Amino acid sequence: MAQITLDNLAHSYFPNPRNEADFALKQIDHVWQDGGAYALLGPSGCGKTTLLNIISGLLVPSSGRILFGDQDVTTLAPEQRNIAQVFQFPVIYDTMTVAENLAFPLVNRKVPRDEIEKRVKSTIAMLDLGDKANRKAQGLTADEKQKISLGRGLVRYDVNAILFDEPLTVIDPHMKWQLRTQLKELHREFGHTMIYVTHDQTEALTFADKVVVMYEGEVVQIGTPEELFDEPAHTFVGYFIGSPGMNVLPCEVAGNRLRLGGQEIVLQRSYDSLDGVVEMGVRPEFVRLSGNGEGLPISISAVEDIGRFKIVRAQLDGRSFDAVLPEGTAVPSDARAVIDSSRINIYRNSHLVRGL
Ligand code: ATP
Repeated sequence: MAQITLDNLAHSYFPNPRNEADFALKQIDHVWQDGGAYALLGPSGCGKTTLLNIISGLLVPSSGRILFGDQDVTTLAPEQRNIAQVFQFPVIYDTMTVAENLAFPLVNRKVPRDEIEKRVKSTIAMLDLGDKANRKAQGLTADEKQKISLGRGLVRYDVNAILFDEPLTVIDPHMKWQLRTQLKELHREFGHTMIYVTHDQTEALTFADKVVVMYEGEVVQIGTPEELFDEPAHTFVGYFIGSPGMNVLPCEVAGNRLRLGGQEIVLQRSYDSLDGVVEMGVRPEFVRLSGNGEGLPISISAVEDIGRFKIVRAQLDGRSFDAVLPEGTAVPSDARAVIDSSRINIYRNSHLVRGL
């Protein structure tokens, strides 16, 4: 296993890129710890697969380096990198049995026979494929085939890292949950460096110790699920993580005073160097509604009752603004929004500004 260093990585699929927009990855510079469980999360087209393919060796970056430990592997072929990769769709041999498919990566690497048997057996048990071990892969369901594909990555024990590219997309939702939990347990047991690409925030937040959020070819934040929720480093993170996402509104801030909707809010932190229009971000969970004239004027457009909570969709200062209220909370007809000032984050040009 290895620490993975991404050193000034950039990639364009164009031979002569003319501007930033021509780059699928712009300046990625990070160290991923040995034994970490990372999820690469972001919308379609943000560069997740490009980055994963650079790590696996399927793609050579336009510039920058990639290191496993101290070794520069930038131009090494995938088979020289000692990594396992699991793709979105099954990559298996239809004419082999389940057990033969799982043994294949180990036979290829000349692992001793009894070790192969032990590994295959435990992987089959983990994936709950016991009754199918001696069945040919052809004829199995799509779910089962994808499990074999996952197993072919997991059966290897001496790899630098295991890379997963949306591996559970074709798996039935109930099974998805179970496999994700098993992957997490496996990570705890064997401590492989795992990198898991997904555009599904639930998948990322439940799998990873650290979530790497990507947006338009850049890594905008690496953090624990709590850090992403409490202090999004970029307004995109606030919007993308959470359901509904963070409210973002233009406002003015001077010192610890914030002006919004014709009113002043006293902040817990002070922002001495800020003037002019910036943005405030607050999660809908930290907004309550009052019916006694307290708070900021809003106009409510919809109330969605989700059972355990209500989502109130409104307009504040001409912008959309959501509040999440506990089950059973009444929504007054003349409701105003009261924001928990201790949970407000301030942004300039979409980036978090840390106050004092
Ligand atoms: P998805 O979740 O849809 O797979 P992604 O986050 O993995 O998306 P990438 O597939 O890495 O994103 O794509 C990043 C950008 O690079 C996109 O603008 C995409 O159109 C472009 N791109 C990807 N592969 C190629 C290619 N082979 N040739 C040209 N452009 C490409």
